[in-house]
Amino acid sequence: MSENPYRALPSVDRLLARDDVRAAGDAAADLVRQALESAREAIAAGREAPNEDEIAEQVAGLAQVVLEPSLRRVINASGVIVHTNLGRAPLSEAAIEAMASVARGYSNLEFDLGEGERGSRYAHLEPALRQLTGAEAAIAVNNNASALLLVLSVLAEQRAEGDAPREVIISRGQAVEIGGGFRIPDVMAQSGVRLVEVGTTNRTYLRDYERAITPETAAIMRVHASNFRVVGFTEAPSLRDMGRVAHEHGLALLDDLGSGCLLETAQFGLAAEPTVAQSLAAGADVCMFSGDKLLGGPQAGIIVGKREVVERLQRHPLARALRMDKASIAGLAATLDHYLRDEALERVPVWHMISAPLDAIARRARRWRRAAGGDATVIDGRSMIGGGSLPEEGLPTKLLALPQTAGRSAQALGRRLREHDPPVVARIERDTLLLDPRTVLPGEDRIVVEALRGALGTKN
Ligand SMILES: *Cc1c(COP(=O)(O)O)cnc(C)c1O
Repeated sequence: MSENPYRALPSVDRLLARDDVRAAGDAAADLVRQALESAREAIAAGREAPNEDEIAEQVAGLAQVVLEPSLRRVINASGVIVHTNLGRAPLSEAAIEAMASVARGYSNLEFDLGEGERGSRYAHLEPALRQLTGAEAAIAVNNNASALLLVLSVLAEQRAEGDAPREVIISRGQAVEIGGGFRIPDVMAQSGVRLVEVGTTNRTYLRDYERAITPETAAIMRVHASNFRVVGFTEAPSLRDMGRVAHEHGLALLDDLGSGCLLETAQFGLAAEPTVAQSLAAGADVCMFSGDKLLGGPQAGIIVGKREVVERLQRHPLARALRMDKASIAGLAATLDHYLRDEALERVPVWHMISAPLDAIARRARRWRRAAGGDATVIDGRSMIGGGSLPEEGLPTKLLALPQTAGRSAQALGRRLREHDPPVVARIERDTLLLDPRTVLPGEDRIVVEALRGALGTKN
């Protein structure tokens, strides 16, 4: 081609005259310039210049990225109930209603309706949290990582300028990384406290904590070993004993519970996850836990415990930086209300899934199998709790299994289900695509059936 390739590019006006480009709306002119710019870069790099149709197509592609919401609803058929990558806990209808209601208009977020003057945003949650856990006082912040940061920052406050940093003692086996690169020791360092690790990865004795106490020690902390379990030759003192040692030395006992379980898990054949009330009763001065793990509410970090500590947390400058927004407060309050009314098993989706009877799950799996046809089978499997709760624990479930065939890999089939609108997320084990009805919400079965038929090309 002898012609100057830059001059062969279509003009902005010419592109803007096309219907397919104008469909990009107000953004069209800007996107056309971006597309032409990348065409010029391609030419400068010695590649072939795109033609007019290709540039128009690129504009449409850019428009789609800009205009289409990136964050979307998906159907969770993975069988992991509290799936961090899929947004953790789905909310109850009442929580969704409450969030929509305060989002739609104004609210008494920081307004005392009785007095007609300024109120506190924490007042909407504290009575329910106290009632449910037996704590003296409570406050909730953005998430549990924030809760940890806030509590430790308050403990890090020096008694006088120039004092040595305050110390918090933690078992080496609990200085863990929780996921997504979130490491307990890093958060502790950020707060300004000095982390003192004691014991070994598998064994820590009460005397290890006792020996590490110095005049700088502010607290002893327990961290729930969220996503792993040390088995075999292990030793960890009970929370009650840790509390006794802490209190004998005038120290606080902190418990990062992770999940925030308010109900007994043993009734569903799971290992006993410590409940918040049990932790406080055993002697913890401050407990921290997430709002969107086993509690089944919106993202939040809940702190319950001694009034004196909670008041210091409220006054700390970080409390403002880490505060919850009004919609989450409304959703959390509505979620807590289900526990107060003793209806969490029916109303809170996470607990509805945990308590779902096996025969109901099996019925749904069989319905899915009929839609899938071919070599699909229903097999026994396990649903996972997820969210760092009850690692390795699972609930018996029934899975739809779609084995890999000569012409179809499990990966390819999984991708086709994710391309459905809304996307359906399954899991793969040993070259078999598995779908678990337990984590698919009531009313979503129709979507799964539709997605299966689309992905497998089955009709009926
Ligand atoms: C999940 C978890 C956290 C972090 O909670 P977020 O709400 O995700 O910030 C902290 N500690 C433990 C033990 C956890 O399991």
